[in-house]
Amino acid sequence: MMDKLNFLTAGIPLKTEPRDYSNAFNVLSEMNLDGIELEFVRGVRMSADGQKVVKEKSKDFVITAHGPYYINLNSKEQEKIDASVIRIVETAQMADKVGAYSITYHAAYYMGNDKKIVFDRVVEQTKKIIELVEKEDLKVWIRPETTGKGTQWGDVDEIVALSKEFKQVLPCVDFSHLHARSGGAMNTYEDFCKTLDTIGTQIGAYALENFHGHLAGIAYSDKGEKNHLELEKSDMNYKDLLKALKEFGVKGALVCESPNIEDDCKLIKEYYQSL
Ligand SMILES: [Zn+2]
Repeated sequence: MMDKLNFLTAGIPLKTEPRDYSNAFNVLSEMNLDGIELEFVRGVRMSADGQKVVKEKSKDFVITAHGPYYINLNSKEQEKIDASVIRIVETAQMADKVGAYSITYHAAYYMGNDKKIVFDRVVEQTKKIIELVEKEDLKVWIRPETTGKGTQWGDVDEIVALSKEFKQVLPCVDFSHLHARSGGAMNTYEDFCKTLDTIGTQIGAYALENFHGHLAGIAYSDKGEKNHLELEKSDMNYKDLLKALKEFGVKGALVCESPNIEDDCKLIKEYYQSL
């Protein structure tokens, strides 16, 4: 269990010079930030040096990892489903190796299928993922993320339901995705409290004490997410979200995915601390 809510940048801070993990942690220290989400969105790759640095720093910082975008556990082609399972397991292997706490990924697309059918398929594939993760004793939380578009599997209810099926699975709650996916709803203090309450009561208190979430400003249309924005240039009600996280005593990792990752990360951490 984590002792507090930690604030992480999504990837190496922009102002890191030269751009390597060792300098990245120096920037995080200078800015009083708590950790980093490793971005494996284009593949699970990391230099041996990078791995060594992150493993060493994992004693003092919180590390999470984001799996490849090229994942669809509901693909029409079995080959692509199998490759997706492998990519998630590879993310977990690397995360475990470098001392990370949690991994997240966008699990599937509906592909025009019924929600119930897609859920059952995601359960079936998650079972394979968890078997492999358990076999290797990988000690990281496995987390499908709440997604930003109506074509993507992963609303709160689906991810909570999946989490109840597997001990090692918990939600990664991307609050900006939920806001975009709902076409501009899911953005009040009451909405945030409802999401957290659902997680805490449906899964258990440990889900809020080992939390992993994402936050950014976001642009959206009626089809959902368009792109990320800086928080102050968006309508994302981050202040009430942080109030809700504090009210529920949420502990774990909140990853800032704004285009100015480290500045917005600092903004939200300082606001949270002022509450
Ligand atoms: Zn994501």
